[in-house]
Amino acid sequence: MNDCLFCKIIAGEIPSNKVYEDDLCYAFYDINPLAPTHFLVIPKVHLASAAEVTEETAPVVGHIYAVIAKLAKELGIAEGYRVVTNVGALAGQTVHHLHFHVLSGKELGSFN
Ligand code: 5GP
Ligand code: ZN
Repeated sequence: MNDCLFCKIIAGEIPSNKVYEDDLCYAFYDINPLAPTHFLVIPKVHLASAAEVTEETAPVVGHIYAVIAKLAKELGIAEGYRVVTNVGALAGQTVHHLHFHVLSGKELGSFN
């Protein structure tokens, strides 16, 4: 049994506010937005985090970046946005299915 929250969202077992979907990935708005625009893009294949990406699965990551670029234009945020993926609890990862946060619409500040 797969107890992964994001696998359940992909399967439609848990509702989500969908932005985009294709054969390889699924995009939906974050339930707790940290910026005026905040959505997540996830591969349909279950990978726990970016640390699990291999040469075999790497193409889906490139595909996700192409989808993000397309969605950014469509959503009117192409002038500036941030893409973030947290790996592990120390980095703040709470859902263990690879996901890319896309944040925009306010001054995002710099990392330190
Ligand atoms: P992480 O902290 O793992 O990098 O990010 C997980 C993100 O998933 C958080 O920003 C959190 O708000 C979001 N999230 C958690 N559960 C749900 C849910 O059921 N639906 C949606 N749309 N987002 C969720
Ligand atoms: Zn999953």
